[in-house]
Amino acid sequence: MSLTRLRLSNFRNLVDVDLEVPAGVSVYFGENAQGKTALVEAVYILTIARSFRAENERELVNFASVGSGDLAIVEGLVEDEDAGSRQRVIVGYRVSQSDSQSGPGYRVSKEIRVDRARRTAADLVGLVHAVLFTALDIDLVQGPPSGRRRFLDILISQADPLYLKSLQRYQQVLRQRNRLLRMRREGRATPEEMEYWDGELIREGAWLTWRRHEVTVLLWPACMRHHRDLSGPGEDLELRYKPSVPLSDHPDGMIDNYRQSLEAAAGREAATAATAAGPHRDDFDIVVNGMDMGAFASRGQARTLALALRLGEAETLSAARGSDPMLLLDDALSEMDAIRRERVLEKASRYPQVLITTTDPEQVAGFFGAGAFYFRLEQGKVLPVDGVPLP
Ligand code: ATP
Ligand code: MG
Repeated sequence: MSLTRLRLSNFRNLVDVDLEVPAGVSVYFGENAQGKTALVEAVYILTIARSFRAENERELVNFASVGSGDLAIVEGLVEDEDAGSRQRVIVGYRVSQSDSQSGPGYRVSKEIRVDRARRTAADLVGLVHAVLFTALDIDLVQGPPSGRRRFLDILISQADPLYLKSLQRYQQVLRQRNRLLRMRREGRATPEEMEYWDGELIREGAWLTWRRHEVTVLLWPACMRHHRDLSGPGEDLELRYKPSVPLSDHPDGMIDNYRQSLEAAAGREAATAATAAGPHRDDFDIVVNGMDMGAFASRGQARTLALALRLGEAETLSAARGSDPMLLLDDALSEMDAIRRERVLEKASRYPQVLITTTDPEQVAGFFGAGAFYFRLEQGKVLPVDGVPLP
C-alpha cells in the first residue's frame, strides 16, 4: 500500500497543496512554522481519521476559511500494488457558526469519504496504515498511562478492524455505566439496572484487554531487538502489560476475572461513581535491565526507547497486515546523537514509503544523498528540490 498523491486545501497553513508523493524516502525540510508538521498531520489523518495533536478539530481549518465557510480538505490517493486497486480517501472539515448558551461559537463537522461513499472513522482506520514518529513520543515513556493506552489502541485498530469497533462500544458502555453509578449514588437507579451494563462492559472489556495483552506479547521482542540495535547489547528491554483486571491464560477466563474485579470494587465504585477496572485503567511498564523506565529513564534513554517502540509498532503492523506501513517521521531525530540517528534512518529506509520532516536537511541528506526525494516547505508551499540539499 502506498500514498501516491496528496491534495490539501485550507488545511492549517497548507492552503493549496497538490503533491505527488514519491515511493521510497521523501524529505520535507524548511524553517520553523512553514507547515512540515501540518503535512505529516494531514497524512496521518488519512490513517486514523483524526489529528494526532489538535485538541479541537477547528484548529485544522485555515483561519481565513473559518470566516468564509470554505472546507478544509485532506485528500489522498492510495494504491494497493498487491490488489491492483486504487482508492480516493477524503476527510473534509466544515466550520459553521453556532449559537449556544455561552454565546456565538463555531461548530466543526467532519465528513469521511472513500471513493465518494460516506464512511465512518471506524471504516476508514486500517485502509491507509502508517506509523508516526514525533518529538512528542518521549511521552510514551515518561508521560501518563493514557498515552500508552492510545499507542496500543492505534496499533491494534490498524491491525484488526474489529478492535476499534469494540473500543468505541466499550467507551459508550463505560459512559452509560458511570452515569448509572452516579444515579445509584443518588438513589435513582437499582442494582438490576446495572446488570445489563455490567454484562456489556465485561464482554467488550475482557476482549480488549486480551487483545492488548496478545499484541504486547508480539510487540515486545520486536521492540527489544530494535532497542538493542540502537543502544547496544547490554540493554535488555521488557514490556509488561499491566491490566487492572488480572490476566487469565485464556480469553474466556478474562470474563470471570473481570466480574470478580467489579465485585471486589463495588464499595469503591459506589463512593466514587466511576468504573474501577477495565481497559480504560490499564497501562504497560517499560523495563530496562529490571528498572522501570517511566520513573528512571534519562532523556536520551527515553528518546531511544520511544524510537524502539515505534519501530516495534511498524514491525508488528507489517506482520499483522502482511504488508508494510508507511512511516512518517516528524522531526523525530533532532535530539539523537549521530550514530543512533543513522541507525534509525537505516531501519526506516527498509520500508517502501517513508516521509521525513526536518529543519536540518543536510543531516538527513548526508545519510540518503541522491537516494531520497527532497522538498522545501516555505509558507505552506511544498516545492520540489532538484538534487541533494548539501551545505
Ligand atoms: P516546526 O519546525 O517549528 O515544527 P512546522 O513547519 O512543523 O514548524 P507547523 O506546525 O506545520 O510548522 O505549523 C505551520 C504554521 O501553520 C504555523 O505558523 C502555525 O501557526 C500555522 N497554523 C496552524 N494552524 C493554522 C490554521 N488553522 N490556519 C492557519 N495557520 C495555521
Ligand atoms: Mg513541526
